[in-house]
Amino acid sequence: MMTKTVAELLSQEVTLQDVTVKGWVRTFRANRFIALNDGSTLNNIQCVVDFENFDEATLKRVTTGAAIHISGDLVESQGKGQKVEIQVKKLEILGDSDPETYPIQPKKHSFEFLRENAHLRTRTSTFSAIMRVKSSLSFAVHKYFTENGFYNMHTPMITASDAEGAGEMFRVTTLDAKNPPLNKNGEVDFSQDFFGKEANLTVSGQLEAETYAMSLGKVYTFGPTFRAENSNTSRHLAEFWMIEPEVAFMDLAGNMDLAEDFVKSVINYILEHNQEDLDFLDNRLFNEEKTKPQAERSPMRLIEKLKFVTDNNFKRVSYTEAIDILRQSKPNKKKKFKYLIEEWGADLQSEHERFLVEKHFKCPVILFDYPANIKAFYMRLNDDGKTVRAMDVLFPGIGEIIGGSQREERLDVLKEKMKALDIPEEELWWYLDLRKYGTAVHSGFGLGFERLVMFATGMGNIRDVIPYPRTPQNAEF
Ligand code: ATP
Ligand code: MG
Ligand code: MG
Ligand code: MG
Repeated sequence: MMTKTVAELLSQEVTLQDVTVKGWVRTFRANRFIALNDGSTLNNIQCVVDFENFDEATLKRVTTGAAIHISGDLVESQGKGQKVEIQVKKLEILGDSDPETYPIQPKKHSFEFLRENAHLRTRTSTFSAIMRVKSSLSFAVHKYFTENGFYNMHTPMITASDAEGAGEMFRVTTLDAKNPPLNKNGEVDFSQDFFGKEANLTVSGQLEAETYAMSLGKVYTFGPTFRAENSNTSRHLAEFWMIEPEVAFMDLAGNMDLAEDFVKSVINYILEHNQEDLDFLDNRLFNEEKTKPQAERSPMRLIEKLKFVTDNNFKRVSYTEAIDILRQSKPNKKKKFKYLIEEWGADLQSEHERFLVEKHFKCPVILFDYPANIKAFYMRLNDDGKTVRAMDVLFPGIGEIIGGSQREERLDVLKEKMKALDIPEEELWWYLDLRKYGTAVHSGFGLGFERLVMFATGMGNIRDVIPYPRTPQNAEF
């Protein structure tokens, strides 16, 4: 007996005697045709049962969702729709599935319904396709960096530093809730959280990655990050994974080249390796779009969007130019894009970003040289004293997918900036040391992995590209 996956069986060119396969029943038609899936591929294998050879009690247990073990011969299929099928000789029920209560029926479920059944939703074609694409992307990320001379490193999850200065951190605490230490004012002293010191969950591994870049040259992290954003948008999670390359002696222009080459490379990888899953998602989402009012429909299909990124040069535009463009474009209440940028200095919303990409430039955009006061403290100040060498990479349908910068390498400028923002030098003495000893130009960026997966799979909600989304009040399962 040869145990095979469904993917292996479906790609067989020859017929095979006595194969065995295990999986979950998708459908069982006419007491004869079992569609079996084991997650190895989008498609099911058809298993043909000669019902006279099996007892009725066993056949009754072949229900949607049941785990079964099948042995038989792989033969050329008589029917349409598949090249091969299994003539079943042996059928064993491994785990029953009550058809009355099993939530995943052989029909199209809404994404909302499936979110409530996150533990079973990968039994559907859509969610198993998403997770296979996600896995490929993850591999492509490591492949790209390894092939380009980067070292992978793990930055700490528990840290005292607030890299972004945005105050969106989860506290880590060992305090005894019943008997917490108190400060002079009689309030709970959170600075003693971590066995007597303050600690948080990391919002970015960047600062630590910088220290490694300044010795190993090219490094990247790819790990979990946490942000206590108490908002319910379709592109923010409280726990997500971030890819953060950091490179010594690289300036902002080099950073843009790296970002563009990197995203093109990983998207090309899935276009080559996940064609079946991507075509399926493309069709599924296209049909979904058709049910929406015209004005809300996505202007591009999935594969088109992926090629929009791989086949176009990314347009590099300064923040100041972008604001001019946005101010000149007339608001149109009926259409999707309503531009409300009034003045230089405002941060862009996703709708502004998408306008620049989808309507104005019609290609992916890299915005750079943002106002210093809307960006983090560590970004390299330009000679104008007002802007920093920051960059955001903007994609269709999503807006910001990457945020990065050239880092401030001058000790005096960095110290001044920290002082203005009330960041104590004692907290980041190690970070300042890098500027004291052998400082140099260096740059890097952060890419939210789930945002990349959203883009790559065409999903409109970040909750649908992570197994168990962590959003406000949602940490159950
Ligand atoms: P946004 O403007 O969308 O809130 P940001 O500017 O706060 O993002 P950065 O600090 O620049 O985000 O982080 C780098 C990247 O991490 C972003 O470009 C995005 O891809 C991703 N990211 C940031 N916050 C989240 C989040 N809460 N959930 C998922 N991905 C995120
Ligand atoms: Mg944010
Ligand atoms: Mg942003
Ligand atoms: Mg950003």
